[in-house]
Amino acid sequence: MDIGGTAAAIRNGDRRALARAITLVESARADHRALAVALLAALGRAPFGDRQALRLGLSGTPGVGKSTFIEAFGMMLVDAGLRVAVLAVDPSSARSGGSILGDKTRMERLSRQPQAFIRPSPSQAQMGGVARRTREAVALCEAAGFDVILIETVGVGQSETMVAETCDLFVLLMAPAGGDELQGVKRGIMEMADLILVNKSDGDLLAAATRTCADYAGALNLLRHRPQDPPGFPKAMPVSAVTGAGLAQAWAEMQALADWRRAQGHWAARRAEQAAHWFGQEVRQGLLAALDREPARGLMGRLAAEVGQGAKTPEAAAAEMLAALGRG
Ligand code: GDP
Repeated sequence: MDIGGTAAAIRNGDRRALARAITLVESARADHRALAVALLAALGRAPFGDRQALRLGLSGTPGVGKSTFIEAFGMMLVDAGLRVAVLAVDPSSARSGGSILGDKTRMERLSRQPQAFIRPSPSQAQMGGVARRTREAVALCEAAGFDVILIETVGVGQSETMVAETCDLFVLLMAPAGGDELQGVKRGIMEMADLILVNKSDGDLLAAATRTCADYAGALNLLRHRPQDPPGFPKAMPVSAVTGAGLAQAWAEMQALADWRRAQGHWAARRAEQAAHWFGQEVRQGLLAALDREPARGLMGRLAAEVGQGAKTPEAAAAEMLAALGRG
């Protein structure tokens, strides 16, 4: 692979080069890994590393309207002249064996736009870790000059943390609900949200959506205001992905928040923190991976056997193993 040529192609907006590069970062093969690291390094250096997209995390349970929302919201941004990338993160796809974007009808209009790029979530088999794949795919899309990168996750456990580590803004999509359901929303995810959008605020659901939105606004008011944000944030707003109502207002709020954080320096600080975090994660993952390779693997096996026979205590064997790794 010609790293310089691929980097230049990605930089020039070559979608096939971008798609191939994402496949590369998803690969668990050691030789692919080395190429991915070199490519990311080439793109991360000036003049490639000067591009910054708005990295927008979007989460919500299945059925809340994420794909409908992304289609409508993405089309609105494209119509405004922006380039939009959509990355799906679905840790559960490993179990179903498929991708949540496998259904071709998802985001049909948006996927036909030359200014849009939609990347489904890969099956676990191809992945060197969901979090790594996501942050590296984001870096590639950013280098390709997309203005907005939408990172879509299904509302389950870990993915939100990962999104927080990768995104500039985090949007939670909710459905109209009764008061009881609101109680069930985890405090943690509420605390992470910059914007709660109550979708399906239309037709028969309008009244319920308006009530739900007021409930979320009340709940958000009880949370501590983040010193890095302007007054009024985090916010709850009604939207309808079907009628398009509220989408422009939601976008205006996202931009206002992004502009504020940029002006206050919080944006750069958050990105710096995220980069430092990724570095730590890479080192940890690298150490774990090394345990599965020779010579560490063999020594692990021998020490485990000795511990099993009572020849060594687990603690002494672990200390010996760590010392051996330190020398390696
Ligand atoms: P996802 O699983 O979160 O991606 O949800 P989908 O986008 O597939 O939407 C689930 C269902 O909700 C579909 O039947 C949509 O037509 C419907 N839906 C999505 N957005 C809206 C909306 O704004 N209003 C109404 N009434 N229905 C919606």
